[in-house]
Amino acid sequence: MKILDLEFVPYISQTQIQVKVNELSARITVDFKDKDPLFIILLNGAFLFAADLVKEIATPCNLSFIKVASYSGTESRGKVDKLIGLNEKINNRNLIIIDDIIDTGLTMQGVIDELQKQNPASISVASLLYKPDAFLGKFTPKYIGFEIPNDFVVGYGLDYNGYGRNLKEILKIKE
Ligand code: 5GP
Ligand code: MG
Repeated sequence: MKILDLEFVPYISQTQIQVKVNELSARITVDFKDKDPLFIILLNGAFLFAADLVKEIATPCNLSFIKVASYSGTESRGKVDKLIGLNEKINNRNLIIIDDIIDTGLTMQGVIDELQKQNPASISVASLLYKPDAFLGKFTPKYIGFEIPNDFVVGYGLDYNGYGRNLKEILKIKE
């Protein structure tokens, strides 16, 4: 399938995603039962993953949607400018940050460093995808859907220059 100038091939199916997301929800539910977790959802990429994930969380929780920009085209800029839209008090809360993909991890590290300033009780990270070979962060990504190699992927929230976010499955760039 062609998106703008690039050719993509099927990679992770809708069913594989569904199964994995439900597994993660079940684990998070067990770990955060009655801990009043606050999910911090990183827009835009995490919107579909977060929607499916939180629907299956079976303990009371809050959701907060924030925005961080760090990517241009197919290359990470790896720098967090600012967190936009965090209106909740997060001190003494158990935070679970939800993102679509951890590549270098520098975006997530920047978000964690910012949140840490407000003394939350704990910070955990949930990401649908993780590229361990590119990772430069200091945190441990605890709830990971799929570990993938350093290929550029789109779909299920992830875009290529604004396109492909709405796709049900994940595609990777054709070699
Ligand atoms: P990092 O700071 O971890 O290098 O990059 C994090 C952000 O870069 C992700 O939240 C995502 O928006 C974007 N990103 C990293 N790798 C990919 C990829 O393979 N495809 C797409 N579409 N975005 C990516
Ligand atoms: Mg992102």
